[in-house]
Amino acid sequence: MAKAPQLGSGGFGSLLEKHSRSQPGGRCSIGAILEDMDDKDAADFRLALADRKTYSSSSLARALNEYGYKTSHSSVQRHRTKGCQCE
Ligand SMILES: [Zn+2]
Repeated sequence: MAKAPQLGSGGFGSLLEKHSRSQPGGRCSIGAILEDMDDKDAADFRLALADRKTYSSSSLARALNEYGYKTSHSSVQRHRTKGCQCE
């Protein structure tokens, strides 16, 4: 029985694995971040995503980067405008 190549646990291996998990319908990096966050963080992030007056896409991208999630304002923008493949 052929086994899928196993990435190392921790470090970049874990990061790669996280990004490789393709969901039905697909999702963008913002969707992946939302899924990775705990419920409280994800709820806060969703509120911020919906609040365009208070949070620009670039300020959200900056906040995510500070929090350890690498993303760009264009990813945030695309997710906000539903130009991505998230549900
Ligand atoms: Zn998305």
